Parts: sequence; C-alpha cells; structure tokens
Amino acid sequence: MASLFKVSIDKLKGVGSKSAEYLAKLGISSVGDLINFYPRAYEDWSDSSTFSGACGKKDQCLRVQVLGECVSQRIRGGKMLYRVEVTDGINVGDVIFFNNRFTPQSMKQGNFYILRGTVKNSGRKYEIISPKVKGIESENNIFPVYSQTSGITSNKIANFVKTALEMLPEHIAETLPQWILEKYNLCSYDFALKNIHFPKNKEDLKKARSRLVFDEFFIYQLGLGFIKKQSRIFTDIKIKDDNIEEFYKFLPFELTSAQKRSIKECTNDIISGKYAMNRLLQGDVGSGKTAVAAAVSYLVAKNGYQVAVMAPTEILASQHYNTFCKFFKDTGLKICLVCGSLRTKEKKRIQQEIEWGFFDIVIGTHALISEKTMFKNLGLVVTDEQHRFGVKQRSALINKGIAPHTLVMSATPIPRTLALIVYGDLDISVLDESLPGRQKIDTFRIDENKRLRALNFIKGIVDEGGQAYIVCAGIEENENDIIDVETYYDKMLSDIFEEKDVGILHGKMSPNEKDEVMARFIEGKLKVLISTTVIEVGVDVANARVIMIENAERFGISQLHQLRGRVGRSDKKSYCILVSNSKSRDANQRFGAMTSSNDGFYLSEEDLKLRGPGDFFGTNQHGVPNIGIPTKYEDVYLVKQAQDAAAELLGSGAPLEAPEFKFIKNKLSKSFELNGENSGKGVIF
Ligand code: ADP
Ligand code: MG
Repeated sequence: MASLFKVSIDKLKGVGSKSAEYLAKLGISSVGDLINFYPRAYEDWSDSSTFSGACGKKDQCLRVQVLGECVSQRIRGGKMLYRVEVTDGINVGDVIFFNNRFTPQSMKQGNFYILRGTVKNSGRKYEIISPKVKGIESENNIFPVYSQTSGITSNKIANFVKTALEMLPEHIAETLPQWILEKYNLCSYDFALKNIHFPKNKEDLKKARSRLVFDEFFIYQLGLGFIKKQSRIFTDIKIKDDNIEEFYKFLPFELTSAQKRSIKECTNDIISGKYAMNRLLQGDVGSGKTAVAAAVSYLVAKNGYQVAVMAPTEILASQHYNTFCKFFKDTGLKICLVCGSLRTKEKKRIQQEIEWGFFDIVIGTHALISEKTMFKNLGLVVTDEQHRFGVKQRSALINKGIAPHTLVMSATPIPRTLALIVYGDLDISVLDESLPGRQKIDTFRIDENKRLRALNFIKGIVDEGGQAYIVCAGIEENENDIIDVETYYDKMLSDIFEEKDVGILHGKMSPNEKDEVMARFIEGKLKVLISTTVIEVGVDVANARVIMIENAERFGISQLHQLRGRVGRSDKKSYCILVSNSKSRDANQRFGAMTSSNDGFYLSEEDLKLRGPGDFFGTNQHGVPNIGIPTKYEDVYLVKQAQDAAAELLGSGAPLEAPEFKFIKNKLSKSFELNGENSGKGVIF
C-alpha cells in the first residue's frame, strides 16, 4: 500500500493533466494525498422531511414519488420551465426546473427520488425549485463535500477518491496496535479511510471520524512525549552565585509578586542543578513576561553561561534587544542581536564572537537556529511567544548546547481543559496578576457606518497625545471586500489625519522597512499605525491607547485578544474597536466574548467551545499535524483518550522497531523529525 500512496496523482484513472494541476492547488499530488484529503462537510440525505415540514426552510431533503410525466412550457424571457408532479405520501407538489430538461425528464413516473433544496408554498401548491436529485436506490445517504478550487468540483473530487479507494488492496493494513483499538473502541484504519469519504450512515461516519481524529492527537501526544523525554535530562550547568535579587535594582519598576514568584520558581529549578529546567511561563498579554525572562537570564549569564532568547519576528527580537540593553546597562554583561536582515559580514562577525563566548546574551529570530550560529557554552534557552514556533524549532535551539535550561513563554492562554494535555510534563509558572495601575480595555463592536465616528474618537485620543493602531486583514486592494493596509489612508483617513503622522506596516515590506516604521511609531513620531497582524505578537508601545480592527470577523478570539493586548500598556484608559458588518453567528459570538471579557483564560475556553480542539491546536501550535477534519468541542474527550493511550504506550517500553509500529514511527518522524539519535534507539521510552 505504501507504494500506492506514492503514486503520482496523474496516474489515477480519469485524472488528466488539467485536473492534476487543480488538485495540486489543493495540496494533492499523490494518490495517497487524495485518500487523505478528507471531506470538509457532508450532505446528509438520510433525514427526509415532508413538504409541509420543509416549507420555508433552506436545504431540505424530501423523499418523493413521481406522479406524472414531465411537462414543459415556455415562459417570459424565452426560458423553458419543466415541471414534475410528485408526492411525499401526504401532499402533492411540483418539482420545477428552468432551462434544464435533462434532470426532470430522467425522473420516471412511479419511481422514488430524494430531492434536496428549498421548499416554498406558491399559495396553490408546494414547489421545490431546481433541487438536487438522487435516485432512491443509491446505497448511501450521506455524501461528501470536499473543499474545492476553481476548475474542480466537489463531485469530481469524490469520483477521483472513489477510483483511488478501489485501487487499494481489499484490506488496508492497520496502523495502531490492536489493544488500543479495543480499549478505546476504535474502528479499523481500513474502515475509517473508506467511511470518512463514503459512509453508509451517520454511525459509520462517526466511527470513521473518531478514529482519524484520535490518530492525529495520538501521534501528537506521542511526539510530545518524546520531546519531553528529551528535555528531562541531567545537566552539568553549575550555578555558584545565586543572588538574583541584586538584579531587581537594575529594573525601572518594582516587580509584581507574581513576577517574583515565577522568577523564584525558575531559579529553584536552575539552582537545584540536577535536571535541566523545562518550564513554561504563561501569562496573558502585557503581564510582564520579559522582565521574568531577563531576571532568569541574568542568573545564568552572570555564572558564566550564555543565554539565547528567540523571538518569532524581527520586530519583536529587536524590541527584546532594546529592553534587555536597558535592563542590563549597568550589569557588565554583553548582549547582541542576530537576525536575518543583518548584513552578511556583520552577521559573520557576530556569530564568530558568539562562538568565542564574547556575548553573554544572544537575542534573535530563527536565525539563531541556523547552523552558522554556534555557542561556546549555552546555559539557557528562552523562547518567546512559544506558540509561534514548532516543537522542532525549539529542540533545534536546545541542541545547540549541552542540556541547557529552557524557559518557554506563551501569551496564548491554553484552556484549563487542555493545558495538562498540551503541556503535561512541563512545569508551569503563571503570571496571573495584572501590572500595577493597569485599567480594563474597553471594547466595542461597531458596524462600518459608525467608522467615521470611531475615527474621530481616535483623533481625539491622538490629540491628547496618545497613539493608535488600525489593523486590516489585507495588504493590497482585493476583490474580497477586505479593507487593505495600502489604500486605507487615502480612503478613510486623509480627511482626519495628516499623512506625515500615519505609517503603514505589513509582512511584504523588507525587514529594514518594517523596523524603520516601527521605530518611528515607538518614538512617537508616527501617531497612527495602519498594519496587518504583523504587530500581533508582543509589540509594546506604552503610549498606544486605541486599536481598531477592521474586518474583525476574519480573526479568531485568541488573535483578537492578542491584538487587543497591544494597547492598555500604561495607566491610561485604552480602547479596542472591532469593526465588522458580519451577521454570522460565529463571528458575533466571538465579538460577544471579546466585549464581555479581558481575561485571556476565560476567552481561550470560549474559543475552544467555538472551534473544537483540532482547530485550536492547528492554529495555536505550529508544527502540530493538521487533522484535515473539522473538530468540535465534543472531541475534547478524544484528545484525552489519545493522551492516555500515548502515555500507556510510552510507559510500556515497547520497541519502536517492531513491525506493528512501522506506521506510527514513520508518521512521528515526519511530523516531529524524531530521527536518528532522538528516536530512542528502538525503544519508545
Ligand atoms: P508580555 O507579558 O506581554 O510580554 P511585557 O513583558 O512586554 O509583557 O511587559 C509589558 C510592559 O509592562 C512593558 O513595558 C514592561 O516594561 C512593563 N512592565 C513589566 N513588569 C512591570 C512591573 N512590575 N511594573 C510596571 N511595569 C512593568
Ligand atoms: Mg512579550
């Protein structure tokens, strides 16, 4: 089967070069990809209604019998109308088609059909116009709906999948050990693959779905298990001078007790000196995580070890660099910045000096992971905005030292129901205290027709000396009615603000351009920053007091909350304005949550309810395998089961080289790059 999975998609019967091209756009290049391309949704034709029950509702299913021949008549505008009289067993109604004679004429008198469409009552009679029609003899009642792209319809994809499934051997090899299937009452992989595409009924679909969702979470949990095993390691790092309080006097503020407690928890780990610290610092946006990281860095650096601090973007890395430079000014410790935009010569020089041990604290972006950056004696690795990095990237940095301590920071509160699962083996410190003098950020949702008023409100804040962010979902003008960064000033702001006071920032600008704009905003030279979500993570401008988010329906709760965290960073009142015309229920639930609470933990729980755990992991944790199946809140139990199963397997010491683990091993190494030495030399734990 493995080989069949690798067969290029254009070798599949019926797939020509054009279709292959379209499928490629959906990320499908092999027959295996196609089989793993699960439906986005299903049309359920099994719950049939009656004319009277379905009347006035959209997308209803009716089981009907044809009463007479198809009749046609010419109507206004030269169109042809075709009418077939049918009954649902109680009432009589007409099925009506315009300019399509094929479908109605194929409906034979006396036969049963299932119709799907919107039923109306014309006053005289029930009518269903241009419904989808399926013969009742078809075996299945649930039909897959695939994500499609222009040029290829869901139906066509379904046909290809059918052909592909027929090519498979009669029974596809099982991928999980038998005892797991039994214990968690899961169906076979064979059954799951076939039924996720073409289930006979809802129960079969549910079984298939549970199995495949379980699989993904299970692999994820196993992978995390390995990483944790890797990180639970002895360390030789020796801390002789453990006086951390002397650092506090270098800080421009008094630390909160939550900050002090977190620092203490880290230093205890580090001083105890047996295992390397493996700690997560969780705190809502603006809770003061950087100061904690700085204090811990101080402890390790002053004992002669190097510290690496990795941030996900250049803007954030250079902001950390500036903050650290300020905090460490009088400590005698040396700090440098490594990022992609440095000139090659300069970068080489800095990298050389890092290797010689000239710098004590090295701050940077992914560039820190590059082969060329080597450390003399790495003692601590700090990753900021942890959710932005894959597990792979974190372990790559850790491998630059010999058992360094690690501190990961996250501003994405994880729902309590998932925290233990995601971070099971990490020690966790929580910053659960707001900084002194901070006020609640008032949040409003408005329609576009109130935008002008909102902009004048922003003008008022700027006139008082404040600054503002305006966030757009798009960069350039586009067809989708998404308000864009590039034309925003001309369209919305030119009557209100002077051009020189307004800057724009987006991901397509060069790092230098971005830094320059950001620097001018931080210095207060720019009053308003129109930006895409590149400002999302960690940017800290105390004077920014209002953020307005356009097309707010395009963002998830945690992203909105992160964006809102860009303001409220001083003791002055701050505001967040969500602009959206959306009537979607989901979007309005998100806005409702945002306007009612500032608490990241509460919001994360709401987010989980709205999105389900698959999506939750998918967007928050880069490097997590993508399930490809939309999940629901109810699936949280599958996450829990997968965690239990993974823990049991890991604890059993079963040999990973055994044939029954072949699939698991392949998948693990694909998702987590757990190859070679890290794969545990054949033993799972
Ligand atoms: P985050 O947790 O979002 O990373 P930061 O570390 O960027 O938050 O801190 C937000 C702001 O609060 C920064 O300007 C920082 O200097 C300031 N800050 C941190 N700790 C304190 C404190 N104890 N008292 C006052 N201000 C603080
Ligand atoms: Mg931060």
